[in-house]
Amino acid sequence: MDYRIQLVISNGYAADKDIYCTCGYNRKVKYREEAGRCPKCGVTETKKINYIRTNYTYIDTLFKVISKTDQGFHIEGEELFISFDLPEKKFTIESKNVRTLSFKLKDKVIQLSKNGQIMSVSDSNINQFFKGAPIERVLDVISTDRNKELYRFCYNHLSCMGYERNNMWGRGLTRLKTYPVIETIGLSPLVNHLNDFWVFHTTLTRSKETMPPHKLLGVPKFMLNYISRMRTYPTYKHERLKQLCQYFDGNSLKLIMEIFDEESDIDKVPDIAETLVEVHRDYGYSDLRRTILYITREVKLEQGIVNPSEAITLIRDLARMNIAMEKSFTKYPKSLKKDHDVALANYKTRESEFKQKEFAKVTEYEDYRDLSFIGKFFSIIRPSHVREVIKEGESLSHCVSSYIDDIIKRKCKILFLRDSKQPDESLVTVEVRGNVVRQVRGKFNRRPTTEESAFIESWAKKKNLEIQCH
Ligand SMILES: [Zn+2]
Repeated sequence: MDYRIQLVISNGYAADKDIYCTCGYNRKVKYREEAGRCPKCGVTETKKINYIRTNYTYIDTLFKVISKTDQGFHIEGEELFISFDLPEKKFTIESKNVRTLSFKLKDKVIQLSKNGQIMSVSDSNINQFFKGAPIERVLDVISTDRNKELYRFCYNHLSCMGYERNNMWGRGLTRLKTYPVIETIGLSPLVNHLNDFWVFHTTLTRSKETMPPHKLLGVPKFMLNYISRMRTYPTYKHERLKQLCQYFDGNSLKLIMEIFDEESDIDKVPDIAETLVEVHRDYGYSDLRRTILYITREVKLEQGIVNPSEAITLIRDLARMNIAMEKSFTKYPKSLKKDHDVALANYKTRESEFKQKEFAKVTEYEDYRDLSFIGKFFSIIRPSHVREVIKEGESLSHCVSSYIDDIIKRKCKILFLRDSKQPDESLVTVEVRGNVVRQVRGKFNRRPTTEESAFIESWAKKKNLEIQCH
C-alpha cells in the first residue's frame, strides 16, 4: 500500500499551521502559506483540517490502474481507514475493502465489484467507490490525453444538471449516452471549446446526431484545427463561418484561413465572412487572394486600418455607392477611407436630388394642390420644394422639416398659412393627414390666434376637412 498525504492542521487562532506527512516528516508553515511539496518525500497532496484534540480519522481511496485506453478504463479502489494520533504524531492506515470499477465508452456500461463480488451499479455504490477523492486524482487514474477533458466535462457538467446538487461520477459518465454530440466533440480537436458548445450551441449538443465532427458542424475537415485554435467559439462565429464554407470551395477557404493566420488573426475571419461573400458575389471582387491580402495586410501597413472587418465594410460601401451612381471606381484604392468618403458625399448629394424629385411630384398631385387657397386676409400655400419646408421650420423654430419623408410617402401634407399681404413670410404651419387637420402651429409651436383659427375653420369647411387638433 502506498498511501501518501500531508495533513495540514490549522490549530485555532495560531499564527502557523502544522503539517504532518505520512513519510514521518513534520514541519510548520505560516498561517497564510500553502503547504506545497513535502521536503522529504515530495508528496504534494494535502488534506486540510481545522482543529484536532488528540486523534483524527477519515476514509480515503487509493486508486490503481488495471487497464486504460482511449476507449475506457478498469481501475481498482482500495478503501482506507486512516487514523492520525496527534500526541504520538503517528499514522495508522488500515485497508478495508477493495473495489473495482470498469467503464466502456462504446456502450457506457459500468461494472462494479467489492472484495471479489459483483456489485449492483447504483449511484450510491459508484459514489462509495470514488469517496473522498478529488477530481484531479480521479482524472489521473481514469483518463488518457485524448479523453481527459471529455471525462472532466462529464463530471463538471453532465453529472450535475438542473436541480441536482452534487457532482457524481457514475451519472456523469453514463449520461454521455444521452449526448452523443458531446462525446464526438470531446474526442475531437474541438475539445477545448466543449464548454462553449454546451452553453451556446444548445440545439446541436442536445441533438442525437452521430457523425464525424466536421460533418456535424458543416465545415471541411481541415477547418477543425483552425476552429480549435480560435479563442472562443460562440454561435455567431459558427454561423458566419458556416456561411463562408457554404459559399467558397475548399481551396478558397484554405487561402482565406492561411492569409488571416499569417497577416491578421483567425478569430477575425467570422467577422468578415458575410461581407466578403457579398463583395465577391455582388460587386465583382473575384480575385480572392488580392481581396484578402488587401484587407489584412495592405490597408494595415499603408493606411493604418488594422481591422479587416472595417476594411471590407468600407470596400463594400465604396462599391455599392459607386455602382448605384453608375460611376467607375478603383477596387483596391491607395486611400480607401478617402475614396469611400468622396463616394459617400456624392451619393448624399444625389440622394437629396432624388428626394426633391419625389417631393415635387407628390406636392403636384391634385389632392395636394387643391388644398391651396388665396383669401382676402389669409392664404394657404402649398410647398413645392423641400427647401421651403426646411425654411418654414427654421423661421418658426419647430420641427416641420422632420415631416419631409412622410410627405414623400404621402402619409401627410404640410401647408403654410400666410398673411395674404406677405405671402413669403412664415406665419403658421398646418398638418393634414387624410381628411383631418391634425396640427396648426406658429412660432415656437404657438397656437393660432382667434382670427387665424376662424380662417382655418372656414378653409377646412370649403375643402371638406375635419379639424382634430389637440
Ligand atoms: Zn513526506
